[in-house]
Amino acid sequence: MIKQAKELLQQYYGFSSFRPGQEEAISHVLERKNTLAVMPTGGGKSLCYQIPGLTLPGTAIIISPLISLMKDQVDALLSYGVAATYINSSLSSEEQRNRIQDMENGRYSFVYVAPERFDSPAFMTAIQGIQLALIAFDEAHCISQWGHDFRPSYRSIVSTLQKVPNLPVLMALTATATQEVIRDIKQLIEVDDEAVVNTGFARENLSFRIMKGRDKREFVTEYLESRPQEAGIIYTATRKDADQLQSFLSKKGYAAGKYHAGMSEDQRKKVQTDFVQDEITTIIATNAFGMGIDKSNVRYVIHYSMPMNIESYYQEAGRAGRDGEPGDCVLLFSSQDINLQRFLIDQSPSEEKKKEEYAKLQAMVNYCHTHTCLQKFILEYFDDPVPPEPCGKCSNCMHAGEERDMTKEAQMVLSCVKRMGGKFGAGLTAKVLRGSSDQKVRQFRFQDLSTYGILSRYTEKELTRFIHFLTAEGYLTPGQGRYPALQLTKDSLSVLKNETSVVMLVEATTTKQETNYNLE
Ligand code: ADP
Ligand code: ZN
Repeated sequence: MIKQAKELLQQYYGFSSFRPGQEEAISHVLERKNTLAVMPTGGGKSLCYQIPGLTLPGTAIIISPLISLMKDQVDALLSYGVAATYINSSLSSEEQRNRIQDMENGRYSFVYVAPERFDSPAFMTAIQGIQLALIAFDEAHCISQWGHDFRPSYRSIVSTLQKVPNLPVLMALTATATQEVIRDIKQLIEVDDEAVVNTGFARENLSFRIMKGRDKREFVTEYLESRPQEAGIIYTATRKDADQLQSFLSKKGYAAGKYHAGMSEDQRKKVQTDFVQDEITTIIATNAFGMGIDKSNVRYVIHYSMPMNIESYYQEAGRAGRDGEPGDCVLLFSSQDINLQRFLIDQSPSEEKKKEEYAKLQAMVNYCHTHTCLQKFILEYFDDPVPPEPCGKCSNCMHAGEERDMTKEAQMVLSCVKRMGGKFGAGLTAKVLRGSSDQKVRQFRFQDLSTYGILSRYTEKELTRFIHFLTAEGYLTPGQGRYPALQLTKDSLSVLKNETSVVMLVEATTTKQETNYNLE
């Protein structure tokens, strides 16, 4: 059967070989084993269900939360001569009824639907009356509450399906699944260990960069100037930022498009089409943009401020370079970004959820402060199975700095944190180390600590950064609540006992391009 799959690959798509993981995933499905495929964006997930769908008798149902993508997928299949359709709320009810009827008459090899469709009795009756080839859950991380984009209606499909007597093989596909999410999906749709195909998250064509202490507008202007013909996305944290940045850039003569949920559907559609068809090269958008944008030649993704977690960041940044050509991913960090994200997390009504989101936010903050390879940091965050080597091209790998032993300074910071009782964040700790006469320092009588003013040769800003660095490297933990309350870790004890030394990259000369850690 897998031989037939190869022929189909050639015949329908014109590709001569499979990409990593495709053949394995396809052969599991063909053996009718429920399968989970975790592949990076652009890894070729569609083929993993399309080829079995073409091979197995009956109709394949593809569930996708991305209504905007369905039409494209269906059009692509139609262009290969495959009978496919989609049924979703963008159609009139009459059209929906017609398509369901055609489905019942066995007209389609592929039917794309949104999760809500399973709440429709007509649809449920229809699928029970036909032969089903397979049911695929695209963007399967949305079925897990551990995922960053949980949709309860998506998860509930699984229990609905249990009542279907002619249930076919199930398949789940996603580009973003932490080990937790993988475990959850496996359990939910009953996937055996050996039917999990995880090609890892590594996107070798992407280079990651973090910029700190830069004027963001100036950076963006210079960046756009240096890449006039290239397509790219600039993500802002709020609609207001998107509006302001766009009007700033258009005054400077850059014709950048804009996309956020505050715009009308028509406006959004137009911008999206213009972007996909290369009418405009740059788009300034909130995170409303991107889910379901099929544009492979995006050359850069700039985050105008830090997103809420690494899951979202990697998904958004990963929209660069889907064609396998180089993609540049820049994150413009400023410490105010953290407050904004905290504020957004606070809107959640669930205490448990908030705690989880704070922890994820902290990992994101750590990413912005780490000195290890950024690509490696991300892969480790996702517990990626492949032990990653430094990428050699992220801003940390490229950092032209010198290694400096900061063990003594680290010990001073750690003992200060210990003496302050584990209740305060980086800001106040830096003030104490610096020897500031700030009112809050006096209020808690920290001027009496033996560590007061012990690092006064550094500026407060440098000390704050150093504390963030120590946190990113695991020598301090910010605790679990809304406000970071620095505490010691197992690793900090070995630093205090002189068993571990703390080495930090310090820039020899600060260039305008990259303002990083400049401790002296
Ligand atoms: P994903 O859904 O994983 O992001 P897609 O299924 O959209 O990725 O595939 C991304 C691109 O890779 C598409 O343009 C697709 O045609 C191409 N592609 C998929 N599989 C192969 C293959 N085996 N050989 C060459 N190109 C492929
Ligand atoms: Zn690197």
